[in-house]
Amino acid sequence: MHSGILTELGDQLVDELGSGSPVIADADTDIVDAIRGAVRLRAVTDHVLAVLAAQAEHVGVAKRSGMTVRELLVANGMAPVAADRCLRVGRALSELPSLYRYSSNGFLSGEHVDAVVRGVAHVSTRTKQPVGSEAITEVQTTLVGQAISGASPAELMRLARAVAIAAAPDDDTITSAAEDATLNEMGWRQGDDGRLQGSFDLDVLTGERLICAVDTASRPRPLPDGTPDPRPAGRRRADAFGQLLDCAVRATADDAAVRAPRTEVVVTVPIAERNTVRLGWLGSISDRAALLAGCDAGITQVDLDQHGVPTAVSATKRLFTGALRKAIIVRDQCCVKCGAPASWTDCHHIIHHADGGPTILDNGCLLCRSCHTAVHHQGWEVFLGHDRHPWLIPPATLDPRRQPLPAYNRRTMRLDPQEAGAAA
Ligand SMILES: [Zn+2]
Ligand SMILES: [Zn+2]
Repeated sequence: MHSGILTELGDQLVDELGSGSPVIADADTDIVDAIRGAVRLRAVTDHVLAVLAAQAEHVGVAKRSGMTVRELLVANGMAPVAADRCLRVGRALSELPSLYRYSSNGFLSGEHVDAVVRGVAHVSTRTKQPVGSEAITEVQTTLVGQAISGASPAELMRLARAVAIAAAPDDDTITSAAEDATLNEMGWRQGDDGRLQGSFDLDVLTGERLICAVDTASRPRPLPDGTPDPRPAGRRRADAFGQLLDCAVRATADDAAVRAPRTEVVVTVPIAERNTVRLGWLGSISDRAALLAGCDAGITQVDLDQHGVPTAVSATKRLFTGALRKAIIVRDQCCVKCGAPASWTDCHHIIHHADGGPTILDNGCLLCRSCHTAVHHQGWEVFLGHDRHPWLIPPATLDPRRQPLPAYNRRTMRLDPQEAGAAA
């Protein structure tokens, strides 16, 4: 095929289909037919792109312009994920004739073709059989057959894993995929809304450790007034995961419970525009989030002058450490709101450090991460009572009278809450 044809075809298609004139179809069957045609067109386009990517790699066209083929694809408008898929498929297709046939005639979508490619590679790695071998060719035929019969890409991968386990040689020196830690992967990306989304793929033992650890830390904890934990299971697991990260960092310290932690977080604060506090990895955060992090996390605040040059670095002087932290642990014993163990807690400044709150016993209290968030973001308040113990005031949405509650370790004591409230 002459390469110029693609350019011509592209122009022609844009003229025919793209220039604001929608496909005219009245009958339902016409619409369905048109969808089928467009899907096939897309599949063939994906195939051509994969072949071209492999060719570009083979002849070194990208290298000559000082980039990788992936960069070349991205520079010409492909999304990075699509470019990765395109390269993977392009590299594999020449060795998979049966897949090539269904890919080139547009019967299988790029996603299905990719699933077969990954499935075949998985079985080949697991069984230590080369891709050209008879056994792997059979796997290819099976997967292509399943794909044509309507199996989804996810189902194709599941099938490939099952085949790999069944076909793995019965040999003590080869671990099954489920138990092979060398296949483990973890990745993440920042979503459009700034949140971090990730995925992991773990061997059973690591997975089991993860589940045990998260499960222990994610048990429901009743609210101070005894109502059940309102957090759904997914939220509790995520809270527990955050807790584990803190514990992991502190666990390296000898006096783990006493030491101020933790995850080393660097925020930069431009003096001129205070509302653009930035995290090192994930970008801008609100002032409220910065206050919460700064309350106890091992946060290094870097103030920037109007030219973006650091002016002052403050690290630990506002953290509760050593004897002071011990004293707070002796007084509070656990999270003052929910009773989570002291080793899971942050030391919260009752009056924010940023508002001039000092780092002293009477201005600190223990809060686990989720309760800490509740105090900073969800309307819970903490104050120091007459008795020099922390007290909690629920948000009006939970208790319209906002009756003060004693700290968790003092809930069984019969103190007059009104009296303590008067001290606020
Ligand atoms: Zn708590
Ligand atoms: Zn706090």
